[in-house]
Amino acid sequence: MALRLYNSLTRSKEPLHPLTPGIVRMYVCGPTVYNYCHVGHARAYVCFDMVVRYLRQCGLQVHYVSNITDIDDRILTAAAQSGESARAIAERFTQAYFEDMQRLSVLRADHHPRVTDTIPQILDLISTLVDHGHAYFVDGDVFFDVTTAPQLGELSHQDPEQQLAGARVEVDVRKRDPRDFALWKSAKPGEESWPSPWGAGRPGWHIECSAMSIAAHGPQLDIHGGGIDLIFPHHECEVLQSESATGKRPFSRIWMHNGHVMIDQVKMSKSLGNFFTIREVLAHHPPSVLRFLLLNTQYRKPVEFTPEAMVEASKALLRLQQGTFQLASSASAGVTEASSQWAPLAAAIASYTTAMDDDFNTRDAIATLFTLLSAYAQDAPKLSAADATTALAFLRRVEDVLSIGLFATPGSPQWASTSPLPAVPSAIEDAEVMRLLAQRDAARARRDFPSADTIRRQLSEAGIEVQDVGGTSTWRRR
Ligand SMILES: [Zn+2]
Repeated sequence: MALRLYNSLTRSKEPLHPLTPGIVRMYVCGPTVYNYCHVGHARAYVCFDMVVRYLRQCGLQVHYVSNITDIDDRILTAAAQSGESARAIAERFTQAYFEDMQRLSVLRADHHPRVTDTIPQILDLISTLVDHGHAYFVDGDVFFDVTTAPQLGELSHQDPEQQLAGARVEVDVRKRDPRDFALWKSAKPGEESWPSPWGAGRPGWHIECSAMSIAAHGPQLDIHGGGIDLIFPHHECEVLQSESATGKRPFSRIWMHNGHVMIDQVKMSKSLGNFFTIREVLAHHPPSVLRFLLLNTQYRKPVEFTPEAMVEASKALLRLQQGTFQLASSASAGVTEASSQWAPLAAAIASYTTAMDDDFNTRDAIATLFTLLSAYAQDAPKLSAADATTALAFLRRVEDVLSIGLFATPGSPQWASTSPLPAVPSAIEDAEVMRLLAQRDAARARRDFPSADTIRRQLSEAGIEVQDVGGTSTWRRR
């Protein structure tokens, strides 16, 4: 197999040589479930879904693990604000995440471990780090001591001295070195917590992925993936923790990172408020169009997401679907025995494979489909049903990996349509907030709490935080 993958660790494209021949151990950082996923999240999970599907098509057995972060500062903040328990919020948004992924044709991983189910393994890992002198304990918190890890800066390619300058901005005086990071955080009153040798608390974010990956795959794995913004600090911390605890290097042989989704050249993110949730987009477009847009760029490059880009993606996908539909009609019209001498097909198969083998270049792979289908439109009169059947078999193989609805039939839910998205992402006018709050106050007054909760959720999705004081409510933008 000529497949080569870009490795963020070595900054070069490398062949895949799994630890166990034929078996790929793979881990991708999953969502923190405190809100609906946006298009930036969709890109990461669609990208790694494509990777898993392609590796499987290449005959590899992929053991794919992706976690659910179901306890975290942001979930606790959401719980404190809504009055719901952290568990209830995490459960609701875990289900929402799986629903969104199913609509986007993202296959389930083999295992989706949750942090709250992994506490014993996390405690074991922290204990090992403390016992080996890589971590220390200060008033209920445990910190990783970065000065014990020579790997510092290796994955992020940052000079450790520069990291030090960056870390000095916000210094916790209890840390021995400003770059040290929390493995265990003591619980504040009323927060969900677990007993530990260092007192009641919960895990820091980074340690969970080391613990879950080691639990599922052992001390080393073949591919670790996530969004590019996870390289530092999250993935670098995973390397330090895992390698210090197990003594095995490298923790992951290949590190893969997908690029950002951009809006007007700014990274889409929850904190900036410039995001579309997957649900908002799918209210206006078939899921196939969003998946097509995300895959129509090589995964490491940024994707510009705009309502206009979605319309363009719809039109382009529609051309592929129409072409495939015509091809399928010709194939079913004649013999089914597949034997083809049609040159454009051989060329398409070769360029598709070359593109995918070159670090999963789905953009070039999709380009070969356009070339093939336009050649078909020209040559159709002189082609046999066998040619069409063979071409169709190839398109099915492509669809198994890209899952962009190539075989949708006109009018079906995956058939591309071009209704535009509203131009402004989640901007809600003050007057509309006030109107909804008045409705909610009225619902609370008549003790209709389900309606009141629905309105609060609706506001929360639009970035409005509501606080109840006595019988009335105040609000602010997040
Ligand atoms: Zn992670």
